[in-house]
Amino acid sequence: MRPSQTAIENSIKILFLSAEAAPLVKVGGLGDVAGSLPNAIRELKYHSDPPEKIDIRVAIPYYPSIKDTNLPVLLIGSKHLQQGSVNFHAEFYETVTTHSKLYLVDFPALKTSPRIYGEDPEMELEKFIQFNFSCLYLPSILDWNVDILHSNDWHTALVNHILRNATKNFQGFGDTKLILGIHNLPYMGPESVRLLKKYAIPHTTISDLPDWGTRQPLPMGLAASDAIVTVSPTYAKEILTSEFGCGLEKFLVNRKDRVFGILNGLDINYWNPQSDPDIPVHFSQEDLDLRSRIKSQIQENFKLVRDDSIPLLVVISRMDWQKGIDLLFEGFHKTRNWDFQLILLGTGNPELEKASLELQKVFPDNVRSILQFDLSLSKRLYAGGDMILLPSRYEPCGLAQLIAMRYGCIPVARRTGGLADTIIDSGRPKQQTGFLFEKASAASFLSALDRALESFQNKNRWRTIQKNAMNQDFSWTISAQRYLELYKSLLT
Ligand code: ADP
Repeated sequence: MRPSQTAIENSIKILFLSAEAAPLVKVGGLGDVAGSLPNAIRELKYHSDPPEKIDIRVAIPYYPSIKDTNLPVLLIGSKHLQQGSVNFHAEFYETVTTHSKLYLVDFPALKTSPRIYGEDPEMELEKFIQFNFSCLYLPSILDWNVDILHSNDWHTALVNHILRNATKNFQGFGDTKLILGIHNLPYMGPESVRLLKKYAIPHTTISDLPDWGTRQPLPMGLAASDAIVTVSPTYAKEILTSEFGCGLEKFLVNRKDRVFGILNGLDINYWNPQSDPDIPVHFSQEDLDLRSRIKSQIQENFKLVRDDSIPLLVVISRMDWQKGIDLLFEGFHKTRNWDFQLILLGTGNPELEKASLELQKVFPDNVRSILQFDLSLSKRLYAGGDMILLPSRYEPCGLAQLIAMRYGCIPVARRTGGLADTIIDSGRPKQQTGFLFEKASAASFLSALDRALESFQNKNRWRTIQKNAMNQDFSWTISAQRYLELYKSLLT
């Protein structure tokens, strides 16, 4: 497929698809990325000379939770779709967020499966199949030609697959190059031969995919894509190995020239300790002592001893096996020396939630377990906590450590994926931004925690580590440029 000349001479038109986009919907890092990366790419045009012409637009499902906010929207079109044996009606709404054009797509399966991510695999798959087909008609509604389709994770992977197999059926996608972003490889989407048949979606026929991969959304999308992007350089290498490749490693190794690792960034205006409206005291690296006021409020709110010299450890995470939360629990049950406090904020796996409450029961003076998703509290914990614990078994990028470092909260993390790429633990205090450990084990975690607790006792040393962390550039600028370069390279 050759791109049209006009695509290069005029503007680059990018359609960015996601299941979530902050601030409207956010469950995890994908929401943060879809809410900030397109803006960062779009802003590049203002900084280049001559100015780039970048037209990037985002589409997400119009979840009932968004409707409930009464966000002003404009109906821009509707379409009756017939796919396989199913007829349904899709509606397209436009809203303008901070910078990007954002489209909200409504379709019937959102009524039966209204949550962002529901429990029932078949209903989830059907919801995103309807979203995917609806998105394929968005360019014709907009009378817009897409140069780059940038889909993300399994939820929108089938768009790439369907387009690769039937480009001509969809107006506005003639020479489109297809990108699929992997934010979490093991989440490949439900397998349902019945639903693929119902919507007349062909299986993938690529020979080096494992058999199960020919009918699961993520591998189907990967097989169809011109470029595969993961969210950190280390994770891009890790997924080529059997330890992290989830059975797709051979397939990915065969395509390693089109597998890229581009580090996630942060919206540094939003995540800013100098102006964050959710934290009670604003601070910068010049006045880090102010953090202790926030810490003291947290200690008071959670009925912990109010004492700045006691290290306050925080966990802000999905409760999931991936995140190694069970390793923490194992480690803390073995710890004799409880000269720290620990606040766990997270929801997810019921067994881990139960274990979190159990830890609080065993150590009632030191541990608080809050089983909620609470954005405002998460920000206070980043701003007032001394250390954030990230014992992930694998971590495609991880945003929690980036946010934490920006707020002067020091990561104690496993050396894997994006954690390895963003945290410096070289043994040189002048560079150090955190504490890393190698093995996914309670013992390995505890040895890094011991080092961190020891450094915490030395106030000057700790301040240096905090300043180093806050000095890192975690903005999108460099990575957005890399995405733009990738887009351009696909179009030449
Ligand atoms: P993942 O996407 O794998 O969940 P990331 O570290 O990339 O992990 O992103 C997690 C995002 O979700 C961060 O912005 C983090 O602050 C936020 N988060 C996780 N759990 C909670 C919670 N219980 N309450 C508020 N925010 C949370």
